[in-house]
Amino acid sequence: MTIIDGKQTAATIKQEIAQIVAERLEKGLRRPHLAAILVGHDGGSETYVANKVKACEACGFKSTVIRREDTVTEAELLEIIDQLNNDDTVDGFIVQLPLPKHINEQKVTEAVDFRKDVDGFHPINVGRQSLGMPCFHSATPAGIVELLRRYNIPTRGKNCVIIGRSNIVGKPLAALMMQKGVDATVTVCHSATENLKEVCRNADILVAALGRPGFVTEDMVKEGATVIDVGTTLVPDATRKTGFRLSGDVDFANVAPKCSFITPVPGGVGPMTICTLMQNTLKAATGELF
Ligand code: NAP
Repeated sequence: MTIIDGKQTAATIKQEIAQIVAERLEKGLRRPHLAAILVGHDGGSETYVANKVKACEACGFKSTVIRREDTVTEAELLEIIDQLNNDDTVDGFIVQLPLPKHINEQKVTEAVDFRKDVDGFHPINVGRQSLGMPCFHSATPAGIVELLRRYNIPTRGKNCVIIGRSNIVGKPLAALMMQKGVDATVTVCHSATENLKEVCRNADILVAALGRPGFVTEDMVKEGATVIDVGTTLVPDATRKTGFRLSGDVDFANVAPKCSFITPVPGGVGPMTICTLMQNTLKAATGELF
C-alpha cells in the first residue's frame, strides 16, 4: 500500500512552475499575476486565500488580494470584477466563495471573463471541459487526475466510482475521468444511489467527495483499489490546540491496508487543488488556451 503524498507532489509542481517563470523573466516577460477578491472575514476563506498567496510566492507569481467587508453590494463587487476583466496586468483572478447571502454567486461567477477564470467555474470553462476543449480545468478534479498520473495509477478501462455530484468536485471529475486519454469507466453516486456499498466495491478507483467524516468503510472497498479522499470536515478534537482536526470521508486506518494507493487527509488532494490554480494562472499568462 502506498500513501499518495499530495504535499510533496504539489511542492514538485510548484518548483516546475517556478522554473518556467524564471525562464520567462530571463526572456523579459513579466511575472504571472493572480488576483483574489476576498469578501468578509470567514476563517476558512482567509486561510484559503493566504495559502494561495503563499503558493504564488513559491511559483514566482505576483499576487494581489482585494478585500471588501461583507456589507459590499453586489453592484460594487461586479464593478471590481469588471475592472479586473479589463486590467491587462492581471492574468487571472478568483472570487473566494462563499459570498454573503445577499450576493448572487452565479451572477458573480458569470461576470468573470472566462479567459481570466482560473478557478474554472465559469459555464464556458465548464462546458469546454465537458467537450474536451482547451479550458481552465476545475481545480480539485484536475489535481486528482494529476496525482493519478504522477503515481502511474492506471485509469484506462478502470472502474472509477465517485461519491458526490457537486459542481466543484463530483461532476467535473466525472468529465475528466471519462475523457480520452484518461479513459476510465465512470459511475457517479449521490444521496439517492441504491446499493452504494456494492457499487463502491466494484471500484478500481474510489473517490469520496461527500463531506461526511469516515463515511467510506473497509467493507466498501475492493482489495487493491485506489482510494482518493476529497473530504475535508473540521471535527472537534480535544487533543489539538485548536480543538479541531481535519477529517476526510474515508476511515483511513481500516481502509488503507486494503488499498494499493490511498490519499491521506490532510496532505492528499488538498495541496493539489491550489496547484491547479497555479497551473491555470500560468496558462492564463502564456495565453496558450484562448
Ligand atoms: P457538496 O456540494 O456538499 O456535495 C456533497 C455530495 O455528496 C452531494 O452530491 C450529495 O448528494 C452527496 N452525498 C451526501 N451524502 C451522501 C450519502 N450518504 N451517500 C451518497 N452521496 C451522498 O460537497 P462538495 O463541495 O463536493 O465537497 C465534498 C467534500 O469535499 C467536503 O468535505 C469539502 O470540504 C471537500 N472539498 C475538498 C476540497 C479540497 O481541495 N481538498 C475541495 C472541494 C471540496 P446529493 O447531490 O444527492 O445531495
